[in-house]
Amino acid sequence: MTTTSTSTPTVLSTIAATRELVRAARAEGRRVALVPTMGALHEGHLALVARGRELADLVVVSIFVNPLQFGPNEDFERYPRTLDADLAALAGRADAVFAPSVAEMYPAGASQTTVHAGAVGERYEGAARPGHFDGMLTVVSKLFNIVQPDVALFGQKDAQQAFLVKQMVADLNLPLAIEAVPIVREADGLALSSRNRYLSQGERVLALTLSAALGDAEEESVRGVPAARAAGLARFDQQPDVRLDYLVIVDPATFLPLEDDATGDGLMLVAARVGATRLIDNAPIHF
Ligand code: AMP
Repeated sequence: MTTTSTSTPTVLSTIAATRELVRAARAEGRRVALVPTMGALHEGHLALVARGRELADLVVVSIFVNPLQFGPNEDFERYPRTLDADLAALAGRADAVFAPSVAEMYPAGASQTTVHAGAVGERYEGAARPGHFDGMLTVVSKLFNIVQPDVALFGQKDAQQAFLVKQMVADLNLPLAIEAVPIVREADGLALSSRNRYLSQGERVLALTLSAALGDAEEESVRGVPAARAAGLARFDQQPDVRLDYLVIVDPATFLPLEDDATGDGLMLVAARVGATRLIDNAPIHF
């Protein structure tokens, strides 16, 4: 298969067709990259695709809004589905798009066998969204088994997700590499997210509280972990219309909270609700 700079990707809706395309590429000695997404693509997703292009010869993007990783009161039904625009955005960037139906992925209606994310999966996003990470790791495992990529790309935007995928790959000896790609932000600091399109104009301004809190914390990092945390929290105190869910500084190697007297690398994670929209962000902080 050849790809020109404007060609639209091959769209595959079945597991069998996807396996066949990858098998043919492998027979030609091509390296395969997988970029798992839920669609509603933006520049953050495209950065993963571009990195995949650097690392592999065949870039497969999956677009699947996975019911298993949404809670009963979450936005599964209204999550944006924009396949035509996504395919246009991927023209000349990705070789193939795997966009299965829910029935193709879960023919029995649900998955009896699931992957459990373990203790870190119960914290932060996992505490706010019970079952989310088990559902995410289950579908990611399925995608890995369907596409069998040499490398899969994940965004640092979902830092806990990237950590848990790497943990799963190590724990289960999965034969692929995982690459985490830095967060792509708007010029004013807002991390790109498919959910940003839910925000009204006023909420879009309030949403900057998350990245501003990360910046304030970073500025205080020379004074230690408690000072950095306090600086981040102060931003939310000033902005009661933004409802903080959690703000925590973790050790990026373990994802456990950093001790107050810690030095070295930290990662600040923040989640908050702006109106009905739940947003997350994170940034490294060195102590
Ligand atoms: P999603 O479609 O939200 O499931 O995201 C698919 C992938 O894109 C995940 O690995 C995300 O971490 C990544 N991603 C989403 N937003 C960004 C961003 N602003 N910068 C970098 N990666 C991102």
